[in-house]
Amino acid sequence: MKAIALVPLKPDSLYLGELPTPVIDDVPGGRGVLVNVLRVGLCGTDREIQAGEYGAPPPGSGFLVLGHESLGQVEQVGSQVTQFAPGDYVVATVRRPGNSPYDAIGMQDMSTDDEYHEHGINLLHGFFTEQYVDTTEFLTKIPAGLRSVGVLTEPMSVVEKGVSQAYEIQQRLRIWNPKVAAVLGAGTIGLLATLLLRLGGLEVVTMALEEGPYLNSELVESLGARYVSTRQVSLAEAAKLYGPFDLMFEATGHSPLVFESMQVLGKNGVLVMASVTGGDRVLEVPSDAINMGFVLGNKVAVGTVNASNGHYQAAVRSMASAETIYPGWLSRLLTHPVPGLDNYQKAFGLLSGRNQQIKVFMEVAPFT
Ligand SMILES: [Zn+2]
Repeated sequence: MKAIALVPLKPDSLYLGELPTPVIDDVPGGRGVLVNVLRVGLCGTDREIQAGEYGAPPPGSGFLVLGHESLGQVEQVGSQVTQFAPGDYVVATVRRPGNSPYDAIGMQDMSTDDEYHEHGINLLHGFFTEQYVDTTEFLTKIPAGLRSVGVLTEPMSVVEKGVSQAYEIQQRLRIWNPKVAAVLGAGTIGLLATLLLRLGGLEVVTMALEEGPYLNSELVESLGARYVSTRQVSLAEAAKLYGPFDLMFEATGHSPLVFESMQVLGKNGVLVMASVTGGDRVLEVPSDAINMGFVLGNKVAVGTVNASNGHYQAAVRSMASAETIYPGWLSRLLTHPVPGLDNYQKAFGLLSGRNQQIKVFMEVAPFT
């Protein structure tokens, strides 16, 4: 069967390759679930792997199949599988357990291992192919009513983890009752963070470079959040005008903004850092002022990466709420469908171009 693969760390080595077609017994003991891939989303991670910045093939393989934002439909289940049935829509977890104590308790997103096992990113083939076989514990069921937006489940799970971490940390404050959040970045993650925080009842100020109105700013405003272009209003000015910010969610991919956020974060506030920055940028910062603000203001900054199974389930619940409260909003993020694995060059071209895209995704197979 077809698969979109590349040679990790070798820039622009993308090609349409072949993988052996999986069978249900690839997972022993009747515990396998054979899934037909329907849709796979692309994001900056795919672009960075394609550019040769990171990524590793499975042991013994000279190539890596890309694709981590999947949506599939169950084709066949093993004799011992009761939780899933043919026809169910499913999303597969990206990070898989390694060897640390966190991996052992289902918190592989908190792994302290040196090497992560991530489908389509590191050491495990991804989902840019036609079928895969998995075990039930790494599959999340997607209600049929959400299938058209199901490809957003993985990015939503990342947001769920970041926000739930913030709330867990803030239990230190006993009576924390956040009112205003700032989201930095209005790409897929920033938009989904805006959505989740609005579903949680917060006022949200979402900031990005572009001046509105454009699709992303309209999507922010249609959630009842405020869109601010940082070309017109600086982060510091926005904090004065609309803050104090109790929670900040950084998802721009531009690391200097982390330190600006630290300066404007409100007292007792929490900063969630969700950008993976593979570069080597160096910055001069007002370290005394940032440090003093954190000490005297009891502030917290926390890094967050991908998600464990529970966050995928939370993502499904939030997406179901969103479809009720903001009907049709999620589907407006799906701006660039690309049909057929054969068209992978087009999909990756869209990803690197400036096409006002929010979510580029490949339609590997049509809904039936
Ligand atoms: Zn992604």
